[in-house]
Amino acid sequence: MFGNNPPRKQELEHDGQSLWVQEIFYTLQGEGPFAGHPAVFVRLCGCNLTCYFCDTDFESSDWRPNLNEIAETMTEVTKGKPPCKLVVITGGEPFRQNIAPLVERLLAGGHVVQIESNGTLFVDLPWGNKDLHVIVSPKTGQLDARLVPHISALKYVLKAGEIDDRDGLPRGVARVNAKTMTDVSERGPEGRLENHDFLPIYVMPMDEQNGERNDVNRAACRDAALKFGYRLTLQMHKLIDVR
Ligand code: SF4
Repeated sequence: MFGNNPPRKQELEHDGQSLWVQEIFYTLQGEGPFAGHPAVFVRLCGCNLTCYFCDTDFESSDWRPNLNEIAETMTEVTKGKPPCKLVVITGGEPFRQNIAPLVERLLAGGHVVQIESNGTLFVDLPWGNKDLHVIVSPKTGQLDARLVPHISALKYVLKAGEIDDRDGLPRGVARVNAKTMTDVSERGPEGRLENHDFLPIYVMPMDEQNGERNDVNRAACRDAALKFGYRLTLQMHKLIDVR
């Protein structure tokens, strides 16, 4: 677990021509709408939140490559592989940095770009582009209202015993009305329930690094998916032992 990471502020003053990067690697996407797809992961450093269950190292690098160096590294890690269309920008929290130039360059190069975000920060991106997907995994009671209309899918991490019976999602965490694409956290979850076909909702068991607890969390996700029509996603990369 990496829950003791320090919270990092958003750094938008820089021009995005270089970024703090933890690592760039080629793997199979393990969760969410692109699960099972080969992908290049660009993991950016730092997060503005400090979730106690965080399972990712995004603080141990001081690498700040420019966009050319990022492109070169992507080529290196996919050497000898079939062309890899999908690029996952993750973290930490990607919107903590100015990722617009990187995203624009990737889209112009014919990539499909998936951004994995906690939904609390915003950077303006070419939102109309069909190859740009923002997957938000809410961890707090409110999302950035500017980002909400651009969310492609929601992914909730469920822990048994901390789930709201009314909608099968974590208590105290933001909800979105999928029809109006607005944050309805303050009004409770009811507004979203009938509309969630418009916005895919994934439920994923929390990894507590404890076999018994993980079994219980998986069962809670199964039940929530069956009861409320959500899509179950597991962290497949952990099952098949890749990053
Ligand atoms: S939002 Fe995600 S990356 Fe940030 S601390 Fe929480 S789990 Fe970790």
